Amino acid sequence: MRGACELDGDAPTRIASSLQRRLSEPLKTNGVTVEVGATIGIALCPSDGTDSETLLRCADVAMYEAKRHRRGTFRFFHAEMDSRLRERADLEVELRGAIADGHVLPYFQPVMSLCRSRIAGFEALARWEHPTRGLIPPDVFIPVVEDLGLIWQLTENILRASCIAARDWPADVTLSINIAPVQLKDDWLAARILAVLTEYNFPPSRLIVEVTENAIIDDIDEAAEVFASLQNAGIRIALDDFGKGYSSLSHLRQLRFNHLKIDSSFVRSMDSAESQKIVSAVSGLGKALGMPVTAEGVETIDVADALRALGCEQAQGYLFGAAVPAEEIRRLFSGSARKLTSVRKTG
Ligand code: C2E
Ligand code: CA
Ligand code: CA
Repeated sequence: MRGACELDGDAPTRIASSLQRRLSEPLKTNGVTVEVGATIGIALCPSDGTDSETLLRCADVAMYEAKRHRRGTFRFFHAEMDSRLRERADLEVELRGAIADGHVLPYFQPVMSLCRSRIAGFEALARWEHPTRGLIPPDVFIPVVEDLGLIWQLTENILRASCIAARDWPADVTLSINIAPVQLKDDWLAARILAVLTEYNFPPSRLIVEVTENAIIDDIDEAAEVFASLQNAGIRIALDDFGKGYSSLSHLRQLRFNHLKIDSSFVRSMDSAESQKIVSAVSGLGKALGMPVTAEGVETIDVADALRALGCEQAQGYLFGAAVPAEEIRRLFSGSARKLTSVRKTG
């Protein structure tokens, strides 16, 4: 609804609600019942603008804001919505360019084998090297990349750069990459990943694909198919953030994982007896199901020692090193320092 100059103060709300009610009534066409809904943005005249073009634009902005929160609702326009929208539009343009120009790169965090006190592998974590804003973490841009439909382009860039970097590592050091939940809906995901590995002559047995539980919740059968294609090719699958989701145990029964990663929230609260028991139980579960367990977010020696005592095989965290550029890992290995317990403590 746009423009409400001659109406009383409650009229926009009344009209929007009534429009939504009417529009959501089921329609019958050719014997088929169709249900539609409407999300409405409201702009007021004269406070939001006095010409139709401005009012339409403001109502549009309010409608997108409403859609972002919950479809089928209505919102009034506010000036902050406009600046948020402009910031987001700028971010999208910059991000498209950054992905195309290769400014979104993998940084590598070591995964330590606790029993052997050496590096077992690296997890590739995406970083946007922004020319003025510095290093931007993935939580800021991955959701935008997903909305833009560019998630495969990003994964492909990360995988390519990781394959190139991993050429300089010892042959038994694994590479882990993360995939976004939406990528499990991509029927071609396994084929796309394998095509990149083939191009770089990278052995599938060295690759671990990390998936979070939210990715699986939507459609277990779909996830099982993608997993089977990847695992048949020799690629391993890790269940990331284990324990953070809703129904972890049923997923373990229905899907075949090769690794479990215990969510950092349990690891960081290992001073509590409850967390220790959970970590111990998950380690036992991993052993019983033949899945090595990695503890995430290990920041102190005491926690690493406790994990080792509880039978946890692998650990990752700032104690051993934050994610660093490929060049630092190359230097580390050229110094034959694989047994180093730390790459870089913080960062
Ligand atoms: P994640 O896969 O669970 O990665 C672990 C996160 O914890 C990383 O944050 C890592 O830098 C951070 N971390 C590692 N050790 C410690 C520690 O000892 N203490 C604390 N406080 N944090 C630690 P990061 O790099 O910001 O990544 C956040 C999330 O973004 C990742 O969570 C992953 O889900 C996602 N992500 C990262 N790279 C990619 C990517 O290439 N593709 C997709 N789809 N998602 C990615
Ligand atoms: Ca991960
Ligand atoms: Ca994780």
